[in-house]
Amino acid sequence: MTILPAALLAFAGPGTYQAAPLTPDLDEPAAFESDCIPVLCYHGIGGSGALSVSPERLRSDLEILYEAGFHLALPSDLFTGFTRVPSDRIPVILTFDDGWESQFELVEGRDGLETTAGCAVGILEAFCEAHPDFGRGAAFFISWDKIPFGQADLIDEKLNFLLDNGYEIGNHSLRHASFMRIPTDEWERHLAGAVAKMKPYIGLRTSLVTSVSWPGGRFPEGARFDEILESMTYQGSPVASCGFLVDGSLLDLSECTGTDGRYRMGRFDMARCSIYSVIRSRRIVDREPRTGLHDPLPWRARALPPLRIR
Ligand SMILES: [Zn+2]
Repeated sequence: MTILPAALLAFAGPGTYQAAPLTPDLDEPAAFESDCIPVLCYHGIGGSGALSVSPERLRSDLEILYEAGFHLALPSDLFTGFTRVPSDRIPVILTFDDGWESQFELVEGRDGLETTAGCAVGILEAFCEAHPDFGRGAAFFISWDKIPFGQADLIDEKLNFLLDNGYEIGNHSLRHASFMRIPTDEWERHLAGAVAKMKPYIGLRTSLVTSVSWPGGRFPEGARFDEILESMTYQGSPVASCGFLVDGSLLDLSECTGTDGRYRMGRFDMARCSIYSVIRSRRIVDREPRTGLHDPLPWRARALPPLRIR
C-alpha cells in the first residue's frame, strides 16, 4: 500500500490546505528507517481562536486519513506495540488539548443529553460509526485552569462518557503553566494535583490518566527531568508514563523503546499544518499486510515498557 494514492494527491490542490507541491517520486516505497507515526494536536473546534480549526476541517482531516490508510490509535497503544491496529493500516493518534467546550458539548435533546454534531466528539462519533474499519478513539488532555469542556454540571457525564466509549483522558496540568518555567519541586503539585481533581468524577479510573501533554508544547531537555516524572505517582499509579510536545515532528517509535524519548514525543499543531503536509512524509511507517500470522510486524517499534514504580 502506498499511503498517498494518486487520486488523493490530485485532491491536494489550492484551497484550504497549504500542502507543498507534489513531487514525482512521492509514491516510492517508504525507507526502511520508517518508524514514525503522526500524532495530531487540535485545540478548539470552530470559533475564532488562533489555534482553532473548523468542524469541516476536522471532518476533512478524518476523511483524508481514512482514505490514506490510517487507523485511529491511542497513547495507551504505545505500551502494547499497537497490536490493536490492523496489520495493513498505519496508526495515527488524535489528541485534543485544554478541554474546550467545542471539543465536547452536550445539549438537552428529545431523549436526554445529546452530543452536538459540530463538536470534536460529535464529529468523531459520527465518522467512526460510518467507518468502523477506521477504529475509534482520541486522547483529550485536560487542564484545570478552566472548567473541563465548559459545562460545570456535566463534567462527570463527559469524562465518563469518554472513558466508556474508547477515548482516553490525559493530563494537561493543574494551571496550564509551562514546565519550562515551573520549579521542579512544584511539578508534582501541577501533575498529580491535576489527577486528584479528576478523582471526584472518575474515581479509580484516575489510574488510566497517565499520559501528559505539556502546556505550551515544550518540556525541558535532560535526564534529571525524566527521573522526576518516572518516580511520580498518584495513589499507587504512575502520573506520567509518557508526554507529548507540540514540535511539528513525527513521533519516532524507534526513539521510544526505553525511557529515552517517552516524555518528548512529537506532535503537529493542526491549526498550523495541513493534513497533507503531515502524512506525505515517507518516514511514516508503510504498512504492507503480513502474509503469515508469525511474520514480523512491518515496523521495528517495540512496546514502551511500563514504568516501574520506585
Ligand atoms: Zn494547552
